[in-house]
This record gives sequence, C-alpha cells and structure tokens, in this order.
Amino acid sequence: MGILQKFIRKSKKKIIAVLIKKRSEWLMILFFLMSFQLYCLEFRRFEASGTSLKILIIGIDGADKEIIERLINSNDLPNISSLIAKGEFYGLKPEDRWSTSIWTSMLTGKKSNQHGIISFVSVNKYAQIVLSPPSYMRKTEALWDILTKKNIKSLFISFPCTWPVESIHGYMVSQIAIPKAFFYKNPNMVKKSLSQKFFSYYTRNCVSNSFKWDILTMIPPIEALIGEMNSLNIPVEFPFTNVMIEKKIVRGWYKKELQRIMHVYNIKKPIVLPYTTIFSLIDSKKLPLLSYISDKLSIDIAIKIVKEDSQLEVVALYMPGLDIFQEYLLPDGRLNGFYKKNLQLIFNYYRFVDDTIGRLIKNLNKNTKIIIVSDHGIGIDLVKNISDIREGIFICSEKINLNKENIVPDEVFDIVLKILNL
Ligand SMILES: [Zn+2]
Repeated sequence: MGILQKFIRKSKKKIIAVLIKKRSEWLMILFFLMSFQLYCLEFRRFEASGTSLKILIIGIDGADKEIIERLINSNDLPNISSLIAKGEFYGLKPEDRWSTSIWTSMLTGKKSNQHGIISFVSVNKYAQIVLSPPSYMRKTEALWDILTKKNIKSLFISFPCTWPVESIHGYMVSQIAIPKAFFYKNPNMVKKSLSQKFFSYYTRNCVSNSFKWDILTMIPPIEALIGEMNSLNIPVEFPFTNVMIEKKIVRGWYKKELQRIMHVYNIKKPIVLPYTTIFSLIDSKKLPLLSYISDKLSIDIAIKIVKEDSQLEVVALYMPGLDIFQEYLLPDGRLNGFYKKNLQLIFNYYRFVDDTIGRLIKNLNKNTKIIIVSDHGIGIDLVKNISDIREGIFICSEKINLNKENIVPDEVFDIVLKILNL
C-alpha cells in the first residue's frame, strides 16, 4: 500500500469517526430544524384561524328552546351540547311579534319603539311599502357602528334589515346577498314576472365595498345541494297542502299588518313592492332549497373569511332556514298536532344546523367565545298574544351568571359588549 493510499484510508476513517462522534449533535440539529418547520406550519395554521377573533355570534331564526333541550337529551346536537357544557343556556323571551324587530333589538340593545323597526313591512323613503325594512329605517346605532367607532374589525352576514349595507370597519353581507347569488346562478328558480324587477332593484349595496370574495362561485350546483339534502333527510320541497295552508295564514296576517302599518305611517294608498320579499320570488314548494343554501353559505362565508383575515375580532351570522322549515312543516304551529309526522324532518334540520355550526367552530381558536341565539321558538302564533310565543334560546360558551332563566332580546347586546369589555 502506497503512502498516499494509506493517508486516504486514514483520512476516511477519521472523517467517519468524526461523523459518528458528531451524530448526536447532527440529530439534534435535524430535530431542531424539523421542530422549527412544524412550529412554523402550526403557527401559520393558528394565524389562519383568526388569532384575534374574540367572539362569534350565531343567530338561528326560530330555534326552539324545548326542541333544543329534547335533542340535547337524545345526544343529537353534539356541538351545541359541548358549548352548553362549558357555558350556559338561557331561554330568550321574544318581546315583539316580528323577527325583524327582535333581531334589531338584539343588535341595537333597544326596544322596538326606540330602534323603529316595528314590523316586517315598512314604508321606504319613496312612500313605498316594502318587506324586510331597509337598514336606513333603523333609528339607533347597531353593534357594527359601535365596533367601527372602537376600531374593532367585524364581519356581519345575512342579518335582517341590513340592506343597503352600511360602511363598517370590516365586512357586511346583507340579507339580500346570498338569495341574489342563488337566483342569479339558478334563473329558472325565480318567478319570471318578478325576476327583472328584483335584480334591477337590488343592484348595489348587497355586500360592503371591502368584501373581496365572490359569493356566486361559492354556490354549489343545484344537483349537489339536492344530494346533500337527501343524505341529511331534509325535504327539498314542501308538501303542496302545507304550502296552501301556510299561504292562507301568511295572506291573513300580511293583510292585517299592512293595514296597521298604513295607519302608523298615515298612508292612504300604498305602493306595495311585492318583489322586495325574497320569498315571494320563488315557488313556495321550492323554499327548502333557498333556506338550506342561505344557512349553509352563511357558515361557508364565515369559515372562508375567518381563515383569510386574522384581524377579525367579531364575527356574527344569521341563519334563516330553520324558521321557514318549521313554519311550512308545522303550519298550525303545534308540536302535537296533525303534522306530528313532520317533526322528524324538523329535527333533521336541527341536526344539520348543529353539524354546520360544528364545521365553523373547528376553524376557530380555542379562546373565541361563542354565542348562539334565536329570536323565538317554533310556531309563532300570530293570532294569539305575544306572551304565548314560544321561547327561543341564548347559549354562551362561557359562564355569565345572570341568575335568571331567560333574557329579553335587547339584553343580548349588553352581554356581547360585556364579553368584549366595551
Ligand atoms: Zn323569527
């Protein structure tokens, strides 16, 4: 063996020895690098799930206290149950007859005679009677105004009386936005006689200028929606007889309410704009599709924006679907009446609502406080007095110790401000 070869062999041995000796250090470096990478990934995931998000408010129209309790007892609402287990569950006593008034009370902290939304119909600035009062009919500040003043970034989705959207620090999706996108994508769903009027009336201000996402692309094809609803055992159409009964009821109280509002505003010959009611645009039998997509998309939009904007501190969304299913499947409003067989279908919708809320909660960080609230319970009976309207719900994921069984709508606002330390 030559000197050179010997030298090479010796060097090789030396290098290998050094490598073996340093192996533990190398492994440590490798371990450190991998941990760092994992930490970065974790951090990015955490960043993406809204690190600033302090509170999520979910409004479910018509969620009934008694039904929620019943389904919790049969382990059917795992997500809502786990929030109650950590926090508290109250009844919500509606103080007004109309959903529009109650939701506005929750969002303003004022009674309806103060905030001015006294009905589901209103007279706009052109002396026209419209359904779902426009946002400018509200006389007092709403939660988003207060948050904007405090420079708190928020997102509000689909609440009643939010069209035209107001300019806020954050994003607002009016109650018109999702139905409008749904009708745009499925023109055959809209009654031909009303379609053009609807689209020309609601041309602008359906979402705030800051809203950079395209709702249209988030609407799945109708076949996919029907497939989902079938698998959840939720009806895609309402039975014809129920539709007729519900229409009769609605026509009755619409006429009465219109007369009351004409009297309040001293209007002799109103110009009624029928196309400003979203639900008159679609064949009543097909209402389940619109209700389902409205609820699903409110959640989808919230998930998307929470993931993409880590500066959001308040997210609030509204789900109108449950109330519509309840009204059409139980038109007489009684749980033990003739339509008892439809109760299971209604329960299936509660399960869907719980499941879809769970999807959103999974995307939040653990410190986010969650409020679930409804405006009233099932079967809002319009012939009886207000005291007969069934209780809605108020659930908070943390203890708030109110020392009472139920709260009234305007108290919701105070609780939210308290949680935010405002
Ligand atoms: Zn309602």
